[in-house]
Amino acid sequence: MQEAPIPSFDGVPAEGGEEGYAGVRRPAHLPGRNRHDRGRHVQGRPRVFRLRLPAVARSEGLRGIARRMSIGGHSPVRSVTRDGDGNSPRRRQHTLQGFSVIGPLDTLLREVRTCRHCAASLPLGPRPVVVARPAARILVIGQAPGTRVHETGIPWNDRSGDRLRDWMALDRHRFYNPDLVALVPMGFCYPGRLPRGGDAPPRPECAPLWHDRILAGLPDIRLTILAGAYAQARYLGPRRARTLTDTVRNWREHAPRVMPLPHPSWRSTGLTRRNPWFETEVLPALRKLVETALDPLSD
Ligand code: SF4
Repeated sequence: MQEAPIPSFDGVPAEGGEEGYAGVRRPAHLPGRNRHDRGRHVQGRPRVFRLRLPAVARSEGLRGIARRMSIGGHSPVRSVTRDGDGNSPRRRQHTLQGFSVIGPLDTLLREVRTCRHCAASLPLGPRPVVVARPAARILVIGQAPGTRVHETGIPWNDRSGDRLRDWMALDRHRFYNPDLVALVPMGFCYPGRLPRGGDAPPRPECAPLWHDRILAGLPDIRLTILAGAYAQARYLGPRRARTLTDTVRNWREHAPRVMPLPHPSWRSTGLTRRNPWFETEVLPALRKLVETALDPLSD
């Protein structure tokens, strides 16, 4: 069966995506919606988004409605949400399925895409590849794009990505839904090759420059996957074990919020073959954590 095309996105509405109501754009890959989905603006009043609430209620219950009503506390669009819905201002940043309200994280990602901070060290030049939206529930912190990801601009669009999706038991459509999964590598641009072969490590300037600000814009993350030693070094610090294998073996010390994994490149096949517990213990636990994190009722 032919696989469906990958959605076109890069963390903000796709170039050429259909422009909806002021500041609210529908990404190009989404199917058309009727006028009631677009919301209306009355001069001098805050914008109110109209949702098909009965349909939402049937499929997702009252929590689904509450989630979809939590729009843009910090957005320059001044979108509104119901008062007293129990959401904190951070939680309220934005979630409206099918739409992206231009908010601080989008603005930050636009800034990221113009970054040339370490351009002199990048053999193919800067092309930051990072995907994040405030509604994301899973955060994957990997290493850096390879050449295929650099060429396509689509994160994890290579064999490592295939292996990671298999580990997580996610198909491409769920994996590439930025309202579910944020993809933030340690280095956003392709770092080149090592003299002896293999990709160079992520640029060390990148994560200190951008990560804190991006992660601050992801208030709903329930599970963070640290794929590889570089991500584990930054985010586990002294809590990681002496070797990457031992850090992964000790996954229970970090779960359920954090899951350390080997980087899913071909190099990890030796580790996974030598350590059968990875397939019998780690992967089933990972898949369960992923399902729980994506469950809309798991708040
Ligand atoms: S690797 Fe990071 S710091 Fe360097 S140019 Fe790309 S985005 Fe900027």
